Amino acid sequence: MEIAPAATHPSSDASSSLWEEIVGEARADDRTYLLEPECKRLLEDIGIATTGHEVARTVEDAVRISGHIGYPVVLKIVSEDVVHKSDSGGVKLNLADAEAVRAACTGMFEAFKDNNIKGVSVQKMAKPGTEVIIGVTRDPIFGPVLMFGLGGIFVEVMKDITFRILPVDEKEIDAMLQEIKGYPLLKGYRGHSVDLRSLKTLLMKVSRMVTDHPHIKELDLNPVICYPDGYTVVDARIFVDNKVTSIVTAPINPDLHDFFYPRSIALVGASDTKGKLGWNVFHNLIHHHCKARLYPINPKCEVIQGVKAYKSLSEVDDSIDVAIVIVPAAATPAAVEECCKKGVRYIVIESAGFAELGEEGKRAQEQIKSVLKKYGCRALGPNCSGVINTHHNMVQSIGIVNDLGKGNIGLIAQAGVYAAGILWGLRHVMDFGIVATIGNKLDINETDILHHLGNDDNIDVICMYLEDITSGKRFVDVAREVTEKKPTIILKSGRTDAGKKAVMSHTASLAGDDKINDIAFRQSGIIRARNNDHMFDLARAFAKQPVPITDGVLVITYTGSLGVAATDTLYLSKMRLGELEPDLKKRLKEILPDYVQSLNPVDYSFTMNPKELRKTIEIGVESKDIGSFIVVLQTEILDSFTAELQQIDYRGKPIMLCVPCKEFAMDAVIRLEKLGFPVYSNPEMAAEALSEMYKYGNSRKSQFSAVQQKMAS
Ligand code: ADP
Ligand code: MG
Repeated sequence: MEIAPAATHPSSDASSSLWEEIVGEARADDRTYLLEPECKRLLEDIGIATTGHEVARTVEDAVRISGHIGYPVVLKIVSEDVVHKSDSGGVKLNLADAEAVRAACTGMFEAFKDNNIKGVSVQKMAKPGTEVIIGVTRDPIFGPVLMFGLGGIFVEVMKDITFRILPVDEKEIDAMLQEIKGYPLLKGYRGHSVDLRSLKTLLMKVSRMVTDHPHIKELDLNPVICYPDGYTVVDARIFVDNKVTSIVTAPINPDLHDFFYPRSIALVGASDTKGKLGWNVFHNLIHHHCKARLYPINPKCEVIQGVKAYKSLSEVDDSIDVAIVIVPAAATPAAVEECCKKGVRYIVIESAGFAELGEEGKRAQEQIKSVLKKYGCRALGPNCSGVINTHHNMVQSIGIVNDLGKGNIGLIAQAGVYAAGILWGLRHVMDFGIVATIGNKLDINETDILHHLGNDDNIDVICMYLEDITSGKRFVDVAREVTEKKPTIILKSGRTDAGKKAVMSHTASLAGDDKINDIAFRQSGIIRARNNDHMFDLARAFAKQPVPITDGVLVITYTGSLGVAATDTLYLSKMRLGELEPDLKKRLKEILPDYVQSLNPVDYSFTMNPKELRKTIEIGVESKDIGSFIVVLQTEILDSFTAELQQIDYRGKPIMLCVPCKEFAMDAVIRLEKLGFPVYSNPEMAAEALSEMYKYGNSRKSQFSAVQQKMAS
């Protein structure tokens, strides 16, 4: 059997023309899959080492090429119909002589005669070494993602792999290599080791290639065999996408200051009839003494809730920073257009009945979008509950909101109802600065708001509860900057539809959507919360206390059992019990009852009293090795500790309180929380919060969090 020779192509050194040539050929064949020899040409072109290859079109061709490469050789079928070659008998390894090549090649041509074959790739048999897999997949939200892992059973069975959103720097590549469980195998094990420097260069080159060529959809180098000196790419496949969808990376970061601190607000759809949503929103604005000038708009009213009303926006003789629109969906597009014509800068569309209801709603939303674009106006919503900014006394919510304290926590929530429920309860133990509900995100999205919160001096800690993320690449870029300044915690519902995606590459099948979320958050420095409680447990700690500057903790407890539990979790979360200096030990022993042996945890048993507790903490504050405290308090006498705790000068060393069954002593707990002490019902959470705070402080260039700087000044 003979195969028609492939057309000859002008050779070029420039990788872009080689790309054009190879992708053009694939397109001509109506393929999105680049064959192994094509992939290897592209890789070699940018200096990546492969086994080499030559495509034979006849059996004698294969024998001749083998002789010239040198035995042993490997034969592989080259066909667009055969993606996974060895599964269908398309790989013959370790062929030692001409006879073996002749027999293997004849057999392959026969076995694949019904497939569209371009020939047989003849290549050197690579020496054994440590097999790794390198891959790339393109996530619809975050863009290209790089995968690395050890090959064979490590990836197939143990799923010992790691991912990074591209682009990456060398530091990130180092972290990837080190975080797989099989890292010791790479570093060196019983005399075998891997040339980590060349492996790193390979990973960098692959990342570059993928960011340079947006039509690479998926890529697998599986396996790459690594040696103590260099590596060789044994197999490669690339899937290309002819429709390249560009992911927005340009940082469109408009200044949203006046959106959060407007000088004037018009409420289109304000109502004087109690029970209507337009009544609630206006009531909230008045009741909280909003700092903006307020203009209720309603064609049927002269006065709304005691404030002069206007028949239309055009009657208002003032410039409007923010217009809130709360009218039925059908009337919304006209209301938005009226706002635009008036020159309103930002519109908060609280009306519902759009994309969340289906196709028709989506179309109406698109229509609004084009109006906004025409006038250069920006909008939040629809289907949201607006913004709360306690520092501007501004509550735009649809539901009645009780009095709120002015706090340093920013919250971005997808749904208004969620935010309302959270605020109703949490306002007892924590104070928010800004709460923004984003709804259908027709324009302003979580990233825009995150960017503002990052720059808003009233905000020290950021929480997000998101169901989806728009333009993930920009989100990661903005989050990286923000987390450098402020701890940011996210609760993101994980989608589990990864299995449903039709993917050809190994990498894409290993990269579940939620795994990509995880890695995107980690790369951005965002802490991912397990659930709602976890998010606000961490937020309270960050918002109320400075971050510890050493990992040593002093545990003080009224019960040994919870002291042990705290200790265990500290070590599990990479913290430790601190060690008092000898003179401090002596001073502590003097105040402890005789039966107390251990100086950390300090276990007072039932005799712990407020004065001793205060003295113990003050001794700990003096120790260089103690960076923070966990204090386990007895619930039934909780109030007796408040006065002494309030007196302590803890000089930037955080104190976490643990009160078992705290939900049955909420009045006392709220009093302690209001003094600035986070109270947890179990020592594990207290230890975990300290560990996250310590990690956060250590991970940033500047050692002190915003909370710390404010406390110091
Ligand atoms: P596929 O992944 O399409 O089944 P590969 O080219 O990866 O095909 O080949 C299957 C296996 O054969 C590889 O995982 C590797 O273990 C081995 N192999 C393939 N080519 C070579 C080669 N040139 N040298 C050594 N081993 C090879
Ligand atoms: Mg393979």
